[in-house]
Amino acid sequence: MSVISRNIPAPLFIKIESGAFRKLKKVLKENHIEFDKPLIISERKVLELGGNEIVRSFGEPGIHLAKDNSISEGDEIGISLRQNNNDVVICIGGGRILDLGKYAATKAKLNYISIPTSPSNDGLASPVAVLKNSIGLTESLGVNMPMGILVDLDMMKSAPIDNIKAGTGDLLSNFSALEDWKLAYDENKEGMDDFAASLAYSAADLMYGKFAGCQKVELDEEKFLKTLVNGLILSGIAMNIAGSSRPCSGAEHEISHAIDKLFPGRSMHGLQVSLGILIAEKLRKKDFENYNKFFELIGLPTRAEDIGLTDDELMQALELAPNTRPDRFTILEKKNLDKKKIKELVKSL
Ligand SMILES: [Zn+2]
Repeated sequence: MSVISRNIPAPLFIKIESGAFRKLKKVLKENHIEFDKPLIISERKVLELGGNEIVRSFGEPGIHLAKDNSISEGDEIGISLRQNNNDVVICIGGGRILDLGKYAATKAKLNYISIPTSPSNDGLASPVAVLKNSIGLTESLGVNMPMGILVDLDMMKSAPIDNIKAGTGDLLSNFSALEDWKLAYDENKEGMDDFAASLAYSAADLMYGKFAGCQKVELDEEKFLKTLVNGLILSGIAMNIAGSSRPCSGAEHEISHAIDKLFPGRSMHGLQVSLGILIAEKLRKKDFENYNKFFELIGLPTRAEDIGLTDDELMQALELAPNTRPDRFTILEKKNLDKKKIKELVKSL
């Protein structure tokens, strides 16, 4: 009898350590990867803060400094990658840079290396890029997985504390997303990929299991950042395995999408998602108290005002939330809240 198994997509290398910027060439060599004509996508500030070390290690590579994070900018890079015969894209920067680079590389059918400098969301290895369309609204676009990921923990330590909090919220949202996935499966609305679910759960539990019982947590400490970055990368791989963002996106993400639509720019994705987790947990009547306690410990949002919204604005977002992903069944669709119930819910936070 032949052994039945499945092939799991994964990057060729994942290197997470202090001083990793200096080691890219070595890591490529260890993995027998060679490039003649890389294009580095980054921004001036990131290059000055350490990215230039990578630039120099490639001699005189092509460099694109990101402009407006739009789909048209990504399309233009895609065309120039082919015209210039580039053979790899190296993205160095925060979420915006990675999204632009992975979209352009996917368009040009090239491999890309993800070098995040901020742990603000699970886009480090996810199959999704969020870019602005021609009327300035954000769109989520499907992209390939990175061939490799390199994270310099020294760089992560200097990320703004809110970015670290946002990444933590996005990672912990896996718990909420998985509750919703199971709910949709139990109600025969969606199929479930158990391996992707297990990986997404383990990624979030790395963080929650290690730090939820602590008296004090330093977010910019290496131990915390390492756990966060590993969790965010595993979340991205779980999404690649599932072929969608489902293992890491449920009601809490619908709430964040609604806030983006109604009140763009008020807060960061991962912080909005954090509040979304608490709201979804209130509805599930499961772990609200535990999450609330942990969120207070590490300074994640627990009320509307923490993400720059009034209670009334949050109520408007909750009304819109189920419509942001009509194809997805979550606790919000299950409860089908009317205005009165939404008001009670927001007041109970
Ligand atoms: Zn997210």
